[in-house]
Amino acid sequence: LETMVDERTQQLSIENEKAKQSDMLKTVFLGNISHEIRNPVNAIIGFSELIKNNAVPPELIGSYLDLIINSGKSLLDIVNNIIDVSRLETGTCEIVKEEFELYVLIEDSLASVKDNSKVLKKRVELIHEVDSSKEITLNSDKTKIQQIITNLLNNAVKYTTEGSVYVGYYFAGENINIFVKDTGSGIAPEELDCIFERFGKVEPRPYSSGGGLGIGLTIARGYAEMLGGELLVESRLNEGSIFTFSIPFKAISNN
Ligand code: ADP
Repeated sequence: LETMVDERTQQLSIENEKAKQSDMLKTVFLGNISHEIRNPVNAIIGFSELIKNNAVPPELIGSYLDLIINSGKSLLDIVNNIIDVSRLETGTCEIVKEEFELYVLIEDSLASVKDNSKVLKKRVELIHEVDSSKEITLNSDKTKIQQIITNLLNNAVKYTTEGSVYVGYYFAGENINIFVKDTGSGIAPEELDCIFERFGKVEPRPYSSGGGLGIGLTIARGYAEMLGGELLVESRLNEGSIFTFSIPFKAISNN
């Protein structure tokens, strides 16, 4: 009986520890979210007021409006990410299949990431490694695959100060592997597991631009698994990372 009590006590203390950790992660998340939301909201209010009060020279109004639009888009991204993560957790996320060209999808994702104002300011080159003759038609959830690729590309750029980000795909046995590789900050081995956790973030490093809610990779991995695949990472601190979304070809082809 004593051993049973001991075992149960130990089990309860582990569960208690987990609950505390999850509670703390949520607090960190709420802190991040307030910060991430406050900046774009302040920008929208501040710049709109300036325009309304005629405090902006006419030739600058266009660029002020761009700032307002971009802040609105950031807010929408945040809200969409929160909805996605909660749908994944409650199991209310559905797969909608359609036919599409992977090559074109990657081109579109690259274009949307390049357009991002934060990316335009960086000395990071974005390179599509596949040539257009190797295009393949997939039958899967285009929106989710695009979101996985876009999340990985945004991270790659965010955590790379200078250098390149490569994206592409190749066949590996029964699988098709879609990869995003960067020459950025990399991730320490002991931190590799926690980055896929909900709200999991590595301590901000001086050269990373920081920010973010810590749910982009949770969503990316959740979607990859929903679609019958997996999302893996290999990384070396200060050298860069490769994220590979690997999916059985038969799960996403028509055959
Ligand atoms: P966020 O970027 O919003 O913090 P993510 O879930 O997308 O959240 O990523 C979790 C963490 O993983 C990041 O905070 C960062 O520490 C690390 N990370 C993700 N992608 C990369 C990358 N390409 N290079 C280095 N670190 C990365």
